[in-house]
Amino acid sequence: YQAKELHSGHSVYDAERDPYGPRRLALINDIRGAIEDEQLLVYYQPKIDTVTGLVKGVEALVRWQHPVHGFIPPNEFIPFCEVSDVIHDLTDYVVVKSLNDTLAWNKAGLDIKVSVNIAARNLMNHSLSEQIQAALTKTSASASILQLEITENDLMHDPERAKTTVKKLSEMGVGLTIDDFGTGYSSLSYLKHLRVQELKIDQSFVIDMLKDENDAVIVRSIIDLAHSLGLQVTSEGVESANILKQLLSYGCEHAQGFHIARPMPATELTSWLKSFNYQKLFEKT
Ligand code: C2E
Ligand code: MG
Ligand code: MG
Ligand code: MG
Repeated sequence: YQAKELHSGHSVYDAERDPYGPRRLALINDIRGAIEDEQLLVYYQPKIDTVTGLVKGVEALVRWQHPVHGFIPPNEFIPFCEVSDVIHDLTDYVVVKSLNDTLAWNKAGLDIKVSVNIAARNLMNHSLSEQIQAALTKTSASASILQLEITENDLMHDPERAKTTVKKLSEMGVGLTIDDFGTGYSSLSYLKHLRVQELKIDQSFVIDMLKDENDAVIVRSIIDLAHSLGLQVTSEGVESANILKQLLSYGCEHAQGFHIARPMPATELTSWLKSFNYQKLFEKT
């Protein structure tokens, strides 16, 4: 942690930016217990096929229902989980929970996969594939229903190591998505040799694409790039009917965003599906 430098050369304590600030320290202390006490909630956000309107999968997004601090979003606690081995337990928890929920949906006749976000530290862990295999064995789930998402930046942390781990997971039948694509630095030759199935375009480009011509160009280029490399592409941050229409015209096959559905608890997915009407997505703004 580096204190913010003032022009005078003096530094000042900035609690907001201090990863070891009092609230954060309290949370760091609580996280292990939270996993054991099942205070972590896994929400799911549907991902749809833009052509057929079918729900292809859901993304698992963790939240923390803290007994004192209340509802805490992932961006407030994942960053400090990622700097210690507690991230391995968190990932285990989310993978097992989402496999169980997805198996229940599959059993009810809903043919969907689940995407789980993983951190750089997970990918750097030599036993990630064994850890994932253990979760699959424990839940009796097929590897084909699981997709792991890793951000472009995290993937580039140690590209060679990442390549080896991704290959192992791919041989097991687990899919890999590069998340927040466009915000990091991966080279095309690296992408070509990586066994991933999907690029997910970062929401920062998608949200403003109707107002900002540069964003529109970036989105369209990523879609074309993905297809040229034989990869599938998902746009996240689809917040309006017009964005969805534009993506459809660009040939983007999968979409996720608040206009389609917000992340929701597992218990709400079935009723959301019953009321979901694909045509209506194009009517309302
Ligand atoms: P992400 O994987 O890129 O997930 C997308 C984030 O965008 C989610 O925020 C989602 O709720 C939000 N989002 C979805 N649609 C829209 C939209 O139309 N507009 C806007 N403005 N936002 C939208 P959330 O749930 O707060 O998660 C934030 C990040 O936390 C995730 O980004 C992911 O990097 C991380 N995260 C969440 N769950 C986990 C987890 O179980 N493990 C790990 N390692 N990271 C996680
Ligand atoms: Mg994600
Ligand atoms: Mg993302
Ligand atoms: Mg993100």
